[in-house]
Amino acid sequence: MLQGKTAVITGGTRGIGRAIAKAYAGNGANVALAATRRTPEAEEFVRELRDRGVRAELYVCNVSDQEQVTGLAEAVLQDFPRVDILVNNAGITRDNLLPGLSAADIDDVINVNLKGTIWVTRAFIRSMAKQRSGVILNVSSVVGLMGNSGQCNYAASKAGVVGFTKSVAKEYGRRNIRCNAIAPGYIATDMTAALGADKSEEIAKALPLGRLGQPEDVADLALFLASDMAGYITGEVIAVDGGMYI
Ligand code: NAP
Repeated sequence: MLQGKTAVITGGTRGIGRAIAKAYAGNGANVALAATRRTPEAEEFVRELRDRGVRAELYVCNVSDQEQVTGLAEAVLQDFPRVDILVNNAGITRDNLLPGLSAADIDDVINVNLKGTIWVTRAFIRSMAKQRSGVILNVSSVVGLMGNSGQCNYAASKAGVVGFTKSVAKEYGRRNIRCNAIAPGYIATDMTAALGADKSEEIAKALPLGRLGQPEDVADLALFLASDMAGYITGEVIAVDGGMYI
């Protein structure tokens, strides 16, 4: 579905980003992964992707740091002939009730989840505009649509991503750049593992589909949205949440 295309995936070494990288590489795309660290696991993952016959590279970049993001775009555009797909997936949580949120809890979450999405998009949009084609996927959250007690900072960052997505879709549609957001519900990754098995089971039981999502559930949608099958879809926010937000 993505033969010969090149995709940049932030947070592409773990969790949802990793599943997206696998799905894209499995469908013929070259992938450029960005993460804050170059771990042995991440290196091993990149080797696995190369074994599928595509080009895969790992870049260390903190998406909340404008200079590092500029460096990322320069490096990727030097290593690959063009970038067709950008997935803004890197994200963090710093949960607490509102009075308990420190200034750092608020700044870090907004800086990575919202401003990081903006910096990275800005760094790659020119090359997409110049080639008059591109796909941008922003990983938001159902929490950005419905809110969540204990996640005021996170929900605000993810709601911001929705507004940003729709604005980019309007600003760049004429350049043949589509921009959509994915809103995952509760997906089993390192991010949600902290809640523990009991809490996870309780959440799963309350969902219409009765189970937690897997990273692959999100990757399937990310694959479709990046492909030409979604050629007339832009500015949308699509939930992958087992019915959490019905
Ligand atoms: P995860 O397992 O914790 O993985 C997060 C990834 O993002 C890691 O690769 C991490 O890289 C990277 N990352 C974090 N901060 C970064 C930064 N400042 N710069 C660059 N990369 C950074 O999380 P996940 O569950 O897969 O979440 C992925 C996305 O889905 C996030 O945006 C999250 O908010 C969203 N989401 C998740 C859920 C869920 O239930 N899991 C639900 C809704 C939305 P390092 O390895 O270097 O730390």
